[in-house]
Amino acid sequence: MVRKVIGLLSLLLCCVNAELLVVRHAAFFVGAGEVIRDVDHLTLTSHQPTSMSVRARGKSTPRCLVIGGCGFLGRHLVERLLDKEYGVAIFDVRRDFDDERVDVFVGDLCSRESLLPALSEIDIVFHCASPPPASNNRELFLKVNYTGTKNVIQCCKEAGVTKLVLTSSASVVYEGKDIENGREDLPYAKKPIDYYTQTKILQEMVVLEANGDKMKNDESKQLMTIAVRPHGIFGPRDPQAIKTMAEMARAGKMKFIIGNGKNMVDFTYVENVAHGHLLASEALCMGSSACGRAFNVTNDEPIPFWHFVSRIVTGLGYAAPKYKLPYYLVYFIALLLHVVALLFKPLCGELKFSFTPMKVALAGTHHYYSCAAAKRELDYSPLYSMDEAIEKTLNTFQYLRADSSMK
Ligand code: NAD
Repeated sequence: MVRKVIGLLSLLLCCVNAELLVVRHAAFFVGAGEVIRDVDHLTLTSHQPTSMSVRARGKSTPRCLVIGGCGFLGRHLVERLLDKEYGVAIFDVRRDFDDERVDVFVGDLCSRESLLPALSEIDIVFHCASPPPASNNRELFLKVNYTGTKNVIQCCKEAGVTKLVLTSSASVVYEGKDIENGREDLPYAKKPIDYYTQTKILQEMVVLEANGDKMKNDESKQLMTIAVRPHGIFGPRDPQAIKTMAEMARAGKMKFIIGNGKNMVDFTYVENVAHGHLLASEALCMGSSACGRAFNVTNDEPIPFWHFVSRIVTGLGYAAPKYKLPYYLVYFIALLLHVVALLFKPLCGELKFSFTPMKVALAGTHHYYSCAAAKRELDYSPLYSMDEAIEKTLNTFQYLRADSSMK
C-alpha cells in the first residue's frame, strides 16, 4: 500500500520530469557537482611529484598548494595561479593533471602522513576539495569536510604555512527561503539544505576560528585564514550541469519551469571564482581586516534561474523550457513524499528521495548574494560578464549541440 502511494506520487513527478530537473540543477548551488565526470574531454594524464617545480622557484613568487586541484574549480584555480607565475602544487585523491610546472601529490586530506610532505615550503594553501554533494553520504562529508579540514589546519600549523584560503559556499546561510542580495553577516542556516551543506558550515567555522592560531614550531608566526563563498559555479569543463541540461533537452525532458520563472539566483563563472580566490589570498596579511572572515564571490549579475537554463539549452540549439508548474504544488508533492517516507520508515525501512522540498526551493526561490564586501575589501570585480561567461562556456560544449551526435 505504502509503496503504491509513493509509486503514484513518484509517477506524477516523473511525468513532469521535475525530479530530475530539480535535482540536477540543485547541484549547482550546493557545491561540487560531480556525478558524471566527463573525462573524455579532459586532456590530462597523471604523474607523481617528480619535478620539484614549486620548490625550485625563487622566493619572489608565492608557492601554493591547491587541495582538490584536480577538480573543476581547482584546475581553473591552478591555471590562474600559473598565469600569475606562482609556484603551484596539487594535492588530490585522484591524479588528473599533467603539467611539468605542477607537482601532483596523491592522497587523502584526512591523512596527516599524506598531507604533511605536500606542505613543505608552501606559503599558501587553497582548500577546494570536497566529496560530491550528490553522494549525500553524511559520514563521508563529516570525515572529509569537517574532520579532514581540521587535519588541514593542524598540518598547516605544523608545516609553518601561514595562509589558508577555504572554498566555502554561499549556501551556508540558505534555508530554502528567499535570499535577495544576501550579505555575509546572515546567520548560518539552522536547517541547512542537506548534509553536505551542514558540513560546509562546520568546515567554514573551524577554518575561520583558526585565524590567529600560532604555528606549532614558531610561536612568533600565526595562521591567517579566509573563506570564499561562491554560488552556482559554471564554466568550461563543468563536469555535470551543462551536460545534464543538454542530455535532458535532447531527450525532450526540458519543458517545465517550477514557479513563475522570475526567481533570481547567482550563477558564477568559474574563472571569476578562481580570481576571487587569488585576491582572497593576497588579502591575507598581518593586521588585515579580511583575515578570519568569509566573502561572497559572485558574477554580481543575478539572473532568473530559468532564464539561465534557457540560455544554456537554446545556446546549444534546443528549445527552452516553457510550461510553468505552480511552485507550491511541486513543493507540496515533495513534502508529501518526505512525510510518507518518514511515517512509514518503521515499516518499510529508510526510503530515500533525492527529490526533496529543499531541492524544489533551490529551483523556485530567490538566492543571490551581495559581493560588495569582496569588492570593497579584496578589490574584487568579476573578470567576465555573464554574457561573456555563457559564451565562453557554450564554446567549449559544442559537442553537446542538438545537431551533433552527443557522446
Ligand atoms: P569537484 O568535485 O570538481 O572537485 C573536488 C576535488 O576534491 C576533486 O578533484 C576530488 O578528487 C577532491 N577530493 C575529494 N575528496 C578529497 C580528499 N579526501 N582528499 C583530497 N582531495 C579530495 O568540485 P568543484 O565543483 O570543483 O568544487 C570545489 C569546491 O567548491 C568544493 O569545496 C565545493 O564545496 C565548493 N563549491 C562548489 C560549487 C559549485 O557550483 N561547483 C558551489 C559552491 C561551492
